[in-house]
Amino acid sequence: MSRFRCPGCDYVYDERNGHPREGFPAGTPWSAVPDDWCCPDCGVREKIDFESEESE
Ligand SMILES: [Zn+2]
Repeated sequence: MSRFRCPGCDYVYDERNGHPREGFPAGTPWSAVPDDWCCPDCGVREKIDFESEESE
């Protein structure tokens, strides 16, 4: 499971938690998130801008 951080507002998408409010249940892999999805916090950054974080 990986985490992806928004470079604009530091929102982190965690595959373990998903984002149910946006329609991604816990465990939804990043690859299943649509390419045109925008950050739910700032609404400015798109998926392609997110930076991957290695989780330990
Ligand atoms: Zn953001």
